[in-house]
Amino acid sequence: MLSALMVLLKSDFPCSFSKSKAPLVPVLGSDQLPDDRHDPPGCVALTCAAASRPQKTGKIGVCMLTTSTLDLGVLSCMHSKGLVGKIALVTGASSGIGQAIAIRLAQEGCNVAINYRKDVDEAEQTRAVALQKAAESGHSDVQVWLIQGDAANESDIIRVVNDVTGTFGGLDILINNAGIQSEHPSHDLPADQFDRVMAVNLRGAYLYSRETIKHLLEHGRPGVIINVSSVHEMIPRPQYLSYSISKAGMGSLTKTLALEYANRGIRVNAIAPGATVTPINEAWTEDQAKKDLVESYIPMGRAGTVIEMASAVVFLASDQAAYITGQTLFIDGGLTLYADFREAWSA
Ligand code: NAD
Repeated sequence: MLSALMVLLKSDFPCSFSKSKAPLVPVLGSDQLPDDRHDPPGCVALTCAAASRPQKTGKIGVCMLTTSTLDLGVLSCMHSKGLVGKIALVTGASSGIGQAIAIRLAQEGCNVAINYRKDVDEAEQTRAVALQKAAESGHSDVQVWLIQGDAANESDIIRVVNDVTGTFGGLDILINNAGIQSEHPSHDLPADQFDRVMAVNLRGAYLYSRETIKHLLEHGRPGVIINVSSVHEMIPRPQYLSYSISKAGMGSLTKTLALEYANRGIRVNAIAPGATVTPINEAWTEDQAKKDLVESYIPMGRAGTVIEMASAVVFLASDQAAYITGQTLFIDGGLTLYADFREAWSA
């Protein structure tokens, strides 16, 4: 039997289930809502299922679930506080996780600058959805801007941050999301490809952080930086040497900046997604056999959704996380729990 249940929530993170018979797998999605649904302001949708496998995926993070048995308890949720009216810059926000983050922040009442490198159409599409979702959530005054810039280029980064702070009136939240990867046996990895991945993933995050912190200190305003790292901050990834090193470095970037600026109102944290359905993973998300193989390594048995990543970012950016700094939050369905130990190796 195919069934899915949507529940309206005041906010989507953090949530707790007060009653359930079957183990529930909540998957956040926003565009499977019926057209005639009337949300109270600030509400988003949650789909819950007892057994899950994503049926449909899309760029804006659609995820439907199949389930044979379904039982849902009462949901209790808290608001994401302190985001209304803030100004956020999301790098690489025209697709995947960054796109979902930009949309979720707008839904929470943040003004959002969407940085993109070259695909202005995707960026425009993201902007339109962000504005629509913000208005549906009661934040029709939210502003969403597009701003082009290459995360590997220092002068672009300085210009982007100056434009955001100058034209848009400040910057409170930086999301270092732009990222690329490159697959090569390490003994054949060309130096220019190593450099390129490091330049976008790590040097870009450092430069964006530097420019943002400079602005925050100059204006004596508190701020939040959230780095989109990876489970490969912790797990080595053969044939992706530069990617693994860049994300491991991001862990240190997060902790070092957090410690350096903790007493000046600047919090620095990271999320570390596991396997997530986005364009960067088209090699396996578009091929069911490969997808099944990937998901067989994940203790929860499924890939993550962009909305699940974005929800954690909203939490870390909000005042609910006011006492959290220097942390990497792994959002990976248990991928970093040494899945090979699920069964005893010997009697
Ligand atoms: P994606 O390819 O959709 O997103 C990457 C974004 O970065 C794109 O919008 C791209 O245009 C942008 N970008 C690339 N180079 C850029 C540059 N030089 N300047 C500005 N923007 C640039 O893939 P995604 O999965 O959404 O990746 C987003 C982040 O999440 C990346 O940092 C990635 O390493 C991280 N991540 C993804 C997964 C996953 O399974 N999808 C897992 C762990 C971490």
